[in-house]
Amino acid sequence: MSALHEQLAAEGLLQIGATTAHAQLDSLAQQAAAHHWSYSHFLGRLLEAEIAARRQRVIETILHFSGLPWQKRLSDFDFSFQPSIDRTLIEELATGRFMDEGRNVIFQGPPGVGKTHLAISLGLTCAERGQRLLFLSAMELARRMKTAFAANRMAHYMRMLTAPKLLIVDEVGYLGLDHDQASLLFQVICQRYEKQAATIITSNKAFSDWGHVFAGDSVMASAALDRLLHRATVVNIKGDSYRMKEKRLTGLFPGSVALPDSPTKGTLRPKTK
Ligand code: ADP
Ligand code: MG
Repeated sequence: MSALHEQLAAEGLLQIGATTAHAQLDSLAQQAAAHHWSYSHFLGRLLEAEIAARRQRVIETILHFSGLPWQKRLSDFDFSFQPSIDRTLIEELATGRFMDEGRNVIFQGPPGVGKTHLAISLGLTCAERGQRLLFLSAMELARRMKTAFAANRMAHYMRMLTAPKLLIVDEVGYLGLDHDQASLLFQVICQRYEKQAATIITSNKAFSDWGHVFAGDSVMASAALDRLLHRATVVNIKGDSYRMKEKRLTGLFPGSVALPDSPTKGTLRPKTK
């Protein structure tokens, strides 16, 4: 036994940046002595703590740069409120396999039915796998691309959009894009398609209305859909807005009012959970 080597164990861990292992060194060494751990068991316990802490830091960094507007998980989703959704299909998506296969996911439906919630929950799965994701609304994406174009940084920004394992483009079709914005969105779709990189789209528009999404250019719309749908899972949600349900429960809305944002349902009906 040498005090020099004991000191080196602590300092060496710091030098190689293993701060968690360093913090746990004394306590794990005491446990090792008390429980007669083998040397490799002790080393395994030390590495386990360090690897878990590093993994957590990676996830936090990914989430920090992800652009996710809020965090909600699949476990927060009330499937009984939205029976049109195939729960098994969503759970299969949550395994993350679609990302490895470069498949796209399209959540379609009226506002408030949980499209963004489900997209975010899949985004969290991506981060928890230690893989990068980027979340943007379609309008924000188009705005940033236009800025990059004006600053002659298009190639750089395009790399930022194609590099993440998962790109989530939220609210496609809510606000009309002009022709330049539409063609920039189209380029992103093409480039991710060519890289076989997974993209999630949420939209309140039926595919038949995507001409309007692409500034009235139906040729560009069908070329975009062709690529998006080539390897895709489409989740078409038909149902009432969860936001309206929450407002009704807090008494902000009376029992039967016109639903402003649901093209499929005209009135709010009392619904039991
Ligand atoms: P959309 O994107 O379809 O407009 P959101 O995903 O933004 O809808 O949902 C609106 C709000 O309602 C969010 O806070 C979301 O978490 C919540 N929400 C929607 N559907 C459900 C559901 N079935 N269970 C739990 N929360 C839901
Ligand atoms: Mg949404």
